[in-house]
Amino acid sequence: MKQQLYIYNSLSKKKELFIPINEGFVGMYVCGPTVYSNVHLGNCRTFLSFDLVFRYLQHLGYKVRYVRNITDAGHLENDADYGEDRIAKKARLEQLEPMEVVQRYTVDFHTIMAKFNALPPSIEPTATGHIIEQIELIKKIIDEGYAYEVNGSVYFNVHAYNKKHHYGVLSGRNLDDMIANTRELEGQTDKKNPQDFALWKKAEPQHIMRWPSPWSDGFPGWHLECTAMSTKYLGEHFDIHGGGMDLKFPHHECEIAQAEACNHQAPVNYWMHANMLKLNGKKMAKSTGNNILPNELFSGNNSILSKAYSPSVAKFFMFQAHYRSILDVSDEALTASEKGFNKLLQAIREIDNLKASEKSSVSVSEWKQSCYDAMNDDFNSPVLIAQLFEGVKIINAVKEEKQTLTQQAIETLKDTMNAFIFDVLGLKDNDEECTTDNKALTQAVNLLIEMRNKARADKDFATGDKIRDELLSAGIQLKDGKDGTTFSVL
Ligand code: AMP
Ligand code: ZN
Repeated sequence: MKQQLYIYNSLSKKKELFIPINEGFVGMYVCGPTVYSNVHLGNCRTFLSFDLVFRYLQHLGYKVRYVRNITDAGHLENDADYGEDRIAKKARLEQLEPMEVVQRYTVDFHTIMAKFNALPPSIEPTATGHIIEQIELIKKIIDEGYAYEVNGSVYFNVHAYNKKHHYGVLSGRNLDDMIANTRELEGQTDKKNPQDFALWKKAEPQHIMRWPSPWSDGFPGWHLECTAMSTKYLGEHFDIHGGGMDLKFPHHECEIAQAEACNHQAPVNYWMHANMLKLNGKKMAKSTGNNILPNELFSGNNSILSKAYSPSVAKFFMFQAHYRSILDVSDEALTASEKGFNKLLQAIREIDNLKASEKSSVSVSEWKQSCYDAMNDDFNSPVLIAQLFEGVKIINAVKEEKQTLTQQAIETLKDTMNAFIFDVLGLKDNDEECTTDNKALTQAVNLLIEMRNKARADKDFATGDKIRDELLSAGIQLKDGKDGTTFSVL
């Protein structure tokens, strides 16, 4: 069955039929994390959205080269061209080598992605491993007349570029509006125009992350690394570039300008942007502290959570929203997702017990195509999940002998459910290896809750209170609600 995949292209602002540059092959680049702290659940949502894209493309039979970088230098505070490097700042505060910071949070990122059962990318290059490529790119941009050097730093000349190209093509902005809305900021005095952005920055004496270059001992600008690494591994023109919505401007806009300046062609056919995960109605962010860490979710150790949730439940919750929609995380929504996910797993286990009939009374192949239709419509995972619940209805109806299926239809039903739930959505029916501790803890605390309930029923309030207080002193808080008692790890 040949599938026609449509992708929403942020550049054209339309859904477009996906036609790869080389038939059967896909080149995809996704901006990776800046490894100066633990990834929060918002970061994870973006990476899991692209894991879904990667998995579905592979499921359709494409050979995908998926490049996702690690930003380990050049990303300054406030995403600006001045201020401290985020990694250097963390190193200074924690009295570590910058590369110790990078190592610690790269390992954390990999561990979390593995817990979420996200597939590793084909190539995971680092900014510091590609300084030479970045210097070569700057030389090329200078030669093309789109960059200038001032006091050892090199800036991209947005005004010169905009004379021949449209700076703002991705984010729908135009330079005149940008000029009207820009105020001069301290520390930007080297630039010819405030809209210009740094390709190379001369390092101040105290800046420890520095490399030699023709212009100064310094470091590359943040936007440059992605152009250098995507070009190196995917070529000057590749299929898909992804990242979070907040990277559209200036980061991706600058990537387009750098690549066009060097290669005289648009670098990417399909730009994809994943929307933000919110907490308390605000964007989840490392810098503001408004975030949940994945491990807090897996242990239940966060004040907004009444319990622990497995990585698959968290993923299922995220995939119940489309990747281009804003999603608000809450304990109630996670609990509802857990219920739904368990229902799905329960139904899958029932398939092997279904009795085959001579004839099918429902069309499994039509249902199967509707699962593909959902994913072919810009990776619409909530519609896919709704279709999987249609599959659950079929399973239950056959079980209750209200519908019939042939043996072959039962096989198709089973294969399709398994393919979409486990291969495409990348969910697991037991997250044993990372939740063993939580499961043991949950069982033990639930036993104590039962004992407390019994004590209270027997009017032995002293024992009931002792259980509650002892648990609290061990960092476990009980909460009595109308549906019973839950607990959270403090
Ligand atoms: P960073 O490590 O800050 O460079 O971010 C890594 C990725 O996470 C980028 O693609 C961001 O766009 C994305 N991101 C950051 N915050 C959120 C959020 N609240 N929800 C979804 N994605 C996010
Ligand atoms: Zn990037």
